[in-house]
Amino acid sequence: MSLIIGVLKEKDDKRVAITPDNIKRSKLKEAQWWIENGAGEESGFADQVYVSPTLIKSRQEILQQADIVVSVFPPPESEFGSIRKDSLLISQFRPYQDETIQAKLANQSFRAISMDMIPRTTLAQAMDVLSSMASIAGYKAVILAAQQLPRYFPMMITSAGSIRPAKVLVIGAGVAGLQAIATSRKLGAIVEAFDVRSAAKEEVQSLGAKFVEVEGAKDDKGAGGYAVQQSEEFLARQRAEVQARATKSDVIICTAQVRGRKAPVLIEAATIPQMKHGSVIVDLAASTGGNCALTENGKTIVVNGVTIIGDSRLEMDMPEDASQMYGNNVLNLLTHITKDGALNLRMEDEIVKGSLIKA
Ligand code: NAD
Repeated sequence: MSLIIGVLKEKDDKRVAITPDNIKRSKLKEAQWWIENGAGEESGFADQVYVSPTLIKSRQEILQQADIVVSVFPPPESEFGSIRKDSLLISQFRPYQDETIQAKLANQSFRAISMDMIPRTTLAQAMDVLSSMASIAGYKAVILAAQQLPRYFPMMITSAGSIRPAKVLVIGAGVAGLQAIATSRKLGAIVEAFDVRSAAKEEVQSLGAKFVEVEGAKDDKGAGGYAVQQSEEFLARQRAEVQARATKSDVIICTAQVRGRKAPVLIEAATIPQMKHGSVIVDLAASTGGNCALTENGKTIVVNGVTIIGDSRLEMDMPEDASQMYGNNVLNLLTHITKDGALNLRMEDEIVKGSLIKA
C-alpha cells in the first residue's frame, strides 16, 4: 500500500501546504497525494491544476484515511477526533505561543510534527518554515511601507529638482530584518539596523546598511541562533538610541522578537510625535506585543501623522510563493522522515526529536 499524504484546506489563510509544483518535484514517487477540494484555490492553484495522479478528496476522507495529513495551521480541535489513529499530522502548532496545544494533543491517537519546532540547524535549513515565511514578511513590510510613504525611497535627480533618498531603520536583523534591509537597499533607501546578536553585524554590513551598536547586549551562542532576554537597563539605553534615530527616519521596520516571550518595546509612545509627518512604522512583532508601544495587532493606525501598521501575518498576503516555499519545506521534511515509500520516524534523529510534539 502506498503512503497517502492528505493536504487540508486552511480555515483562515489563503495559503495551501502543498502546491502542484511541489508534488511534481517530489522525490516521494510512490506516494498518493490527496488534496481537499478547493484547498489551493485562494493561492492560485485550482483543483484542476492538481493533475493526476493527485486526487481531489473531501475533508472527511483525508482526516479519516490519510497516513500523513499536512496543513499550514492545525485543523480546529473539534476535528481532532476525526483524524485517523496512528496517522501523522504535520502543521505549525506554535507551542511557544499557545501553551495549551500540547495538552490538547496529549490524549489524541494521532502523532504530530510542528514545522515551526524543527531545530534551526544547517541540516534542517531546507525545512525551516520560520525562515521562509519571515523572509516574505520582511520583503512585504518594505513594499507596504513604500506604498504608504508620501515620499520616494530612492534618490531622484530630475529636472524638477533633486529628491533625497528615504531613511529606513530596521529593528531586529534576523531573517525578516535582513530581507527588509535587502529590499530597502534595492529600492535605493539609506538603511541602518539594530540587533542584539553580534553575528548580525556582519550580515547587516554585507547588505550595505549601517549596524547600530548598543554596548552591553547579552548574546548567548547556545540559544540556537535566537536572541536572549536583555536587561531592563540595556533596553532603556537601546530605546534612547532608537529614539534618536527614529526621529530622522522615514520608515521603521520592526522585527525584534525573543522566542517565547513578549517582544521588547523599543519605540516609546513619546517618540511618535517627534517623528516626521508621513513616516511609516511596520511592526512585524505585533502579535507578540509589538516593538512600538502604540502598535495595535492587526490594525493600521495614524498617530500624529505617523502610520503604524501592526501586522505579523504579511506572508499570508503573498499566498502563491508562500505556499510554494512552505510546501518545499514540508517536502524536504517528508523526504527526511520516509524510507522506501513508508514513514520512518527515527526518534534519535535531531529533527524528529525537536519537532515531534506528540509521539
Ligand atoms: P526572531 O524572529 O526570533 O527575532 C528577530 C530578530 O530580533 C533576531 O535577529 C533577534 O536577535 C532580534 N532581537 C531580539 N531582541 C532585540 C532587541 N532588543 N533589539 C534588537 N534586536 C533584537 O529571529 P529569527 O529571525 O527567526 O532568527 C534569528 C537568527 O537565528 C537568524 O538571523 C540566524 O542567525 C539564526 N537562524 C539560523 C538558522 C540556521 O542555522 N539554519 C535558521 C534560521 C535562523
